[in-house]
Parts: sequence; C-alpha cells; structure tokens
Amino acid sequence: MRKIIDMRLNPSDAYVPARWKYMASLMLGIAPGRIYHITPIRLSMDARNKVVFRLKAEIFIGEHLPQEERVFKTALPDVSSRSPVIVVGAGPAGLFAALALVQRGFKPIVIERGKTIQGRKYDIALLNRGEKLNPESNYCFGEGGAGTFSDGKLYTRSTKRGDVTSILRTLVEHGAADNILFDAHPHIGTDKLPGIITSMRRSLLEAGAEFHFNTRVTGFLVSKGRIKGIRDSAGNNFKAGAVILATGHSAHDVYEMMHKEGYALEARPFALGVRVEHPQKLIDEIQYGMADRGRYIPAASYSLVTQAAGRGVFSFCMCPGGTIVPAATGKGQAVVNGMSNSGRTSPFANSGMVVALEKSDWEEFAKHGPLAALAMQHHIEHQAWKVTGDFRIPAQRLTDFLDGIVSVNLPGSSYHPGLLCHDLNAILPSFISERLKLAFADFNQKMKGFISAEAIVTAVESRTSTPVRIPRDPETLCHPQLMGLYPCGEGSGYAGGIVSSAMDGQKSAQVAAARYIPA
Ligand SMILES: Cc1cc2nc3c(=O)[nH]c(=O)nc-3n(C[C@H](O)[C@H](O)[C@H](O)COP(=O)(O)OP(=O)(O)OC[C@H]3O[C@@H](n4cnc5c(N)ncnc54)[C@H](O)[C@@H]3O)c2cc1C
Repeated sequence: MRKIIDMRLNPSDAYVPARWKYMASLMLGIAPGRIYHITPIRLSMDARNKVVFRLKAEIFIGEHLPQEERVFKTALPDVSSRSPVIVVGAGPAGLFAALALVQRGFKPIVIERGKTIQGRKYDIALLNRGEKLNPESNYCFGEGGAGTFSDGKLYTRSTKRGDVTSILRTLVEHGAADNILFDAHPHIGTDKLPGIITSMRRSLLEAGAEFHFNTRVTGFLVSKGRIKGIRDSAGNNFKAGAVILATGHSAHDVYEMMHKEGYALEARPFALGVRVEHPQKLIDEIQYGMADRGRYIPAASYSLVTQAAGRGVFSFCMCPGGTIVPAATGKGQAVVNGMSNSGRTSPFANSGMVVALEKSDWEEFAKHGPLAALAMQHHIEHQAWKVTGDFRIPAQRLTDFLDGIVSVNLPGSSYHPGLLCHDLNAILPSFISERLKLAFADFNQKMKGFISAEAIVTAVESRTSTPVRIPRDPETLCHPQLMGLYPCGEGSGYAGGIVSSAMDGQKSAQVAAARYIPA
C-alpha cells in the first residue's frame, strides 16, 4: 500500500532518511519495519516561529519501490556516425541541448571557446588572486558555462514542472545529491558542480558526441538564408544541417558579429545595480531571531522586491554563506556576481540588488542601435573599473552609500581580489542609485537591521541577464533570417538561470531534430 503523508521534522532529522522512517511509523501507528521505502516529494523549511521542516512524502507500506520509478543513468544511443548538429557553447543550454540531440539520434559537435573544467580552475584561481583575467576562460566562459562556478541554485519560476524534473533527474544521474529532486529550494554548490559537468561530458563522449574546446565561433556559413555551419577564430569551418547557438549573456562578440553581418537583434530590458554583503550571522539573526543557528539549520536567505519611483527593485541571486566573485569577461570591466559551496559555510551573505531598466535609460547610447543597452552596460562596468584599474572593486558601507559619503574603512568581505573605498553614487547613474536607496529603506522595514554599517555594497552587478535579444520565430525557434540557427539559453534573451536555460536548450534541440535538413 502507498500513502502520502505530511511530516513535521526537527532540523536534525530533516536530511536523515533513516529518521523519516521512524517518524512516519509513529505518525501512521505501524512498526518501522512495515515501511519498505519512502519517496520524498517536497521538503521545505518554516522559520516563522521556531525553525521546523515539513516533508511531504509517499510511504510504501509492505511494498517496494517499482524498478521504473528509480533514478538510473539513462542509456544513450551510439550517435558517432549519425547526422551532425553544431552546438555552440557548453553551458547549461548547450549541454542539455547536446543530450537531447543524442536522445533523438543526432551527433552533437560542441564548440566551446573556453577550456575544460580542469584548465578553467587554474584561470579562476589566477583571477581570484587578482593576477590575470583570461578573456576566454573565466567565471562566464569555459566548460559548463556561467553555471559551473556558480551558486547552483536550481529553482526557477517556470511552471513546466515536468521539464524541470527531467533537468534535475539528469543532474542526479550525473552525480548531484538526490535531495535536489524534492528540496523546495534546491542548490548544488560550486564545489560539486564541476564533477557533475565533467560526468555529463563523459556521457556525451561515450555516446559519440564531439567536443572542441579553445574554439571560438566568429562567423556563420550561410547559403540562401539557411545556415550550413560555423567558422572559428582559427579559420576552420564546421559543417552541419543545424546550429544551436547557446553562447550566454557575456558573448558580446557574438552579438557584435551578428549585428555587423546584418542579422536582426533587439535591445532588451535588463536589471543592473550593486551586490550587497552582510555578515551571515546578521542575516540569521534577522530571519531566525538567533545569531547562532547551530549545526542543522541552513544559513538564512532572503528574497526582497519593491517598487521605487515606478520601477521594480529586487534582490537577485542571493547567496547565503557565499562569496562575491569577479565575473568580468574582458579588460576594463568591473563585474560582480555571487556563488557558494554546497555547505554554504562562508561567514558572509551576499545578493545582487538591482533596478529594472527600460528603453529610456539607454537613450544616450541610441547610436548603437540594438546594442544600445549593451553599450550602457559596458559604460557602467568601465566606470567602476576605472576607480581601481585592476581586479579590486569599488565598495562602500551600506550606511555611507545612503549618506553619499566615501567610507573611511570597510568591514571584512568574501571578495578575494580586494576592495577600494569609493562612493558608488559617483559610478551609477542617479536613476539607479536613487532607486536603490529607496529600496534599501523599504527592505529595512521588511528585515529590521538590513541597513547596517557592517553591510557593504560593491559594484557593478550588471550581468543579471542579457541586454540583447536574438529574435526567433515562435514556431521554428530559428532566427527569422537564418533557417537552421537556433538561438537559445540566456544569451538569446528567452531564458535566465541554470534550469530555464537548460530547458530552453532542450526545447531547441527537440525542434532542431524534428526539422533537420542536411547541410
Ligand atoms: C557567479 C555566477 C553565479 C550564478 N549563480 C546562479 C545560480 O545559483 N542559479 C542559477 O540559476 N543561475 C546562476 N547563474 C546564472 C547561470 O549560470 C546562467 O543563467 C546560465 O549558465 C546560462 O546558461 P547558458 O547555457 O545559456 O549560457 P552560459 O552558461 O553563459 O554558457 C555559454 C557558453 O558559451 C560559450 N561561448 C560564448 N561565446 C562563444 C563563442 N563565440 N564560441 C564558442 N563558445 C562560446 C561560453 O564560453 C560559455 O561556456 C550564475 C552565474 C554566475 C556567473
């Protein structure tokens, strides 16, 4: 017999399946030995009064979990001599597109400008020490894309739960802990993601896919409005009947190449602001009412949103127990983002705090046509970079930002390359900084103590999503001037975040496979 029940669990029991069995047996009034299996459906935390967990689970009484409901690594067909499809970019969109292509009997040829994870780790270490930025291998570029050294939060606002589950199951098949399948706020962590991405590459290689690292796409091969392949920076041509373009929000050279060659693009509203960092203990105290949360209660998080002078201002990519990282991809840019490890053990909590931007904000850059919003993003990143001229970033105590004064000194921070005291009001356009100030006042009402001299703001949180959309036909998912070119993932402007980009990659691969015409 199967039964669905809701259990209330103490923090020390929440992630211990052996304890679930005991708790369920008490609740159902049966011997623990009668429970053969428990399938957790949803685990969520309730911190309104005392911190407790709620577990919704399916209980198998006197019956085992059927074989077909277990998570096994899906066997992939051999596609080594099948029709090729080029996938540009090995981020979440590109990798999940490649897997979907293999499942449909096509051979993915994955072209990635960056290095494999091993090589990328070395470049990221140099960047964190403030020594060198490799424009082809950094927090955004390289195997796994921007998703590899990220926080690995996997929640998405997408309501297509079926597709979300298939993405999460694939991650579990490749080594992610299975709690991502039922946790209300699933999270992997930057220490675990590299192993999972490497395992996905191995599965694809075993099935006959090709990977070309250190290979940057610089042009398209086109005949009569139909794509026939791509050209790389070394002058090599790769031919295929379809090209999946999954180059992410930081591949500015791809937008520039398309614009130069006359392919339609559109400026796209995005959000920009700062990254705020608090001591984690302060956030724990505000959210849980206790600074010492003990061993079992997770580092507290928050999600804030408000309206300020007619615009949305919101927290973005909040990383409890996390680190602020340098996410620039080129010289002369100051860009911050956040990540955390699986245990969320850093003593800091950081989050983007960004203002929703509109067309009127980038009027000054109108001469750049569809790249106007991108030009504004570059301009602000460059203004921030000029403050230090190196890998340090401008920073200010939150209280000083509100008062418009340069901080005399700064509290400790997780940002490795270093901080330099500066008034961020002098970097950000006033339509952003003034709204941020209004929003911080509102957030302090919602979370008493949020405005604190122990909190800092850093600049610039600018790569929240892409400021350029690559148009695509809603039915064919192809660019209107380039049949067979499938722009997808975050860089296309139709997805944002790991899971939604992965789902978009999957969807594009399905359509590309169904409409395939050989080159
Ligand atoms: C530090 C950090 C933390 C983040 N944390 C989270 C999080 O917790 N949760 C979440 O959902 N999202 C997070 N994100 C965002 C998330 O990583 C992205 O939304 C996601 O990776 C987008 O996937 P994508 O495949 O569309 O693009 P990307 O991941 O950007 O991948 C694009 C790939 O294309 C390659 N490429 C670009 N141009 C070319 C070219 N010309 N030729 C060949 N290859 C090219 C790049 O090298 C890259 O590998 C984070 C991002 C960063 C930087």
